Amino acid sequence: MQFNDLNLMDSLLRAVRAEGYTEPTPIQVQAIPHVLAGKDLVGCAQTGTGKTAAFALPILQRLSQTPSRQRGAIRVLVLSPTRELASQIGESFSTYGRHTGLKNIVIFGGVGQQPQVDKLRRGTDILVGTPGRLLDLMQQGYVRLNTIEIFVLDEADRMLDMGFIHDVRRVIAALPTQRQTLLFSATMPPDIQDLADRILVKPVRVEVTPQATTVEKISQAVFFVEKQDKRALLEHVLADKAIRRVLVFTRTKHGANKLAQQLDRASIQAEAIHGNKSQGARERALANFKSGKTRVLVATDIAARGIDVDDVTHVINYDLPNEPESYVHRIGRTARAGASGVAYSFCDADERAYLRDIEKLIRLRVPVVAEHPYRSPLGMPTAAPANRPSPRPAAANGQHPARTAPAGEPRGDGSKPRRRRHRRRSSSAGQPQPGMGQ
Ligand code: AMP
Repeated sequence: MQFNDLNLMDSLLRAVRAEGYTEPTPIQVQAIPHVLAGKDLVGCAQTGTGKTAAFALPILQRLSQTPSRQRGAIRVLVLSPTRELASQIGESFSTYGRHTGLKNIVIFGGVGQQPQVDKLRRGTDILVGTPGRLLDLMQQGYVRLNTIEIFVLDEADRMLDMGFIHDVRRVIAALPTQRQTLLFSATMPPDIQDLADRILVKPVRVEVTPQATTVEKISQAVFFVEKQDKRALLEHVLADKAIRRVLVFTRTKHGANKLAQQLDRASIQAEAIHGNKSQGARERALANFKSGKTRVLVATDIAARGIDVDDVTHVINYDLPNEPESYVHRIGRTARAGASGVAYSFCDADERAYLRDIEKLIRLRVPVVAEHPYRSPLGMPTAAPANRPSPRPAAANGQHPARTAPAGEPRGDGSKPRRRRHRRRSSSAGQPQPGMGQ
């Protein structure tokens, strides 16, 4: 299947070609014809599957082919749970729609509202936003949704996780009932299914299951290490220059800040991105990471949501997530749009139970890096002195930095782990832990 077979207008095909896309992804193949036909749709797909183009391309085409009923009226509303994702969706509309003349505006909280209000006054075809700021602006009379023709609810399950579902319902109540509705969600918990049943009319359901395939494509390895040695191990691993663009995940915002500073002091260009940073600082960090100016981006799960950077060569779980689904989201960052990638996890004595949960979810045993200078004596099959830095760089070619234990070799994690599962409310920084999502 080619983009040419999807009945897309020439101006969209040109934009897609300019992006270097050679063929549509499975969600695009499945969704585009239905959206073009004006049908309601439920798409079960994570970020990274190409789902933005799956709705943005046919929406742009529909808008181009039917004149606006009212000059300057908003015709499309896209709701997104996070500002990063909202920005990226806005960028996608700009990129794919660059030859269509259609305008889009992105609104989100955490920044002054005046520039957004000014843009709204000038009119737009497409409005992308987070629910809180949208409601604010609606209440102040700056946004009216009575002209919406197409409504997209993106990452619906994440809206639920983040506590936005009531805001979403209030926004939906302000939409015209005559409209096309598209709902995207990585999972379908009962609350989202209920919502879908209420807001969609005879929806087509399309589903892509990238999880298993994504996970299989990623070369994974776990390092058993004591908590206090994790930073030294990270520096050791980063001695490998093949690790060009790496996302490092920590559990807390404070941990992200501290680690980024420590790496920077060790002359490894690093920046942190998390919810306490201003929007400007987050955008700068992301831009530096995208351009390659920053090699290491240290992120928390929430902040990393919607980060859309191609060519992340490695993901490193500095802290293992206590939600196994987060592991899948995290490592999926290194295998965007068909690329393969490498994911390392640093597992200390307290995190063994998390590792087991992850392996159960992905139905794979993560190979153990059997030899590295900071191996935890508990974690290894043979007793070995810990904390003896090796002069040898961690790895070449982005492969695992050392021998991984062959299947069947004891993993050394047989000791009874302390189970510390704090579902959904574990972070010491009070940050919500995401569950399944994108
Ligand atoms: P998304 O799931 O929408 O966040 O898209 C993930 C990434 O895939 C983005 O970087 C897109 O630019 C890229 N992408 C989307 N569609 C395609 C395609 N057909 N071929 C190659 N890359 C794509």
